[in-house]
Amino acid sequence: MSRSLAICHLFPELLNLYGDGGNILTLAKRLEWRGIEARIREVRVGDVPSFSDADIVFIGGGSDREQRIVCEKLLAQKAELKAYTEDGGALLAVCGGYQLLGHSYVMGEETLEGLSLVDLYTDRGSPRLIGNIAIESDVSPQPIVGYENHGGRTHLGPGVTPLGRVAFGHGNDGESGSEGCLEKSIVGTYIHGPLLPKNPGVADWVIARALERRYGSADLEPLDDEEELAANEVMYHRLMSHQEKD
Ligand code: GLN
Repeated sequence: MSRSLAICHLFPELLNLYGDGGNILTLAKRLEWRGIEARIREVRVGDVPSFSDADIVFIGGGSDREQRIVCEKLLAQKAELKAYTEDGGALLAVCGGYQLLGHSYVMGEETLEGLSLVDLYTDRGSPRLIGNIAIESDVSPQPIVGYENHGGRTHLGPGVTPLGRVAFGHGNDGESGSEGCLEKSIVGTYIHGPLLPKNPGVADWVIARALERRYGSADLEPLDDEEELAANEVMYHRLMSHQEKD
């Protein structure tokens, strides 16, 4: 049976920091290499997103200004997005997108209301948390590596599992040692880079959740990830040996 997944890319023209769009390319390629069709839908400002036939939803990172615009648009679709994630729909959210998953993003005097899909909230701190990052996570056999740049500090509710533990860098708040969130088929993370090209384990985790929901099982054929894993390993070892050059 030929398989096909619909990937919904939310607001690519606004939320596309540090190559976040590369996450979509990675998902599409990893599907294509396995003979699975990838149908990519870009939802731009002015479009009304529909999640009823989506298999993977991606939301990237952006500045506070861009987040404000996106937030307003997405709040109008809050119920539909909640129904999608409650049904096990896969959602990958990076940085600004990750912050929007929570109840609120407090920016000094102003508070942006979030989607409340995950029990977390974010407030803005100083200094910005910037630099390369590596975390250990159950979703990936390899450490997850990438880059972070955020003023927000994200605080997870008591029942929320982090995506992983910080091995190098800052993560959710620079203090707790936790990074990102993992709930049902939702992954939230501060990791840009983009995230997926160097972290094929995360890409396949998302794809597997989408295939299970759509077809009942993932049945994921392994790929030759030699180059991806070499890139991941070089970065991980560079960071862990503290020889990082910014
Ligand atoms: N505007 C948010 C912050 O600074 C997110 C930035 C980003 O997506 N890199 O915390």
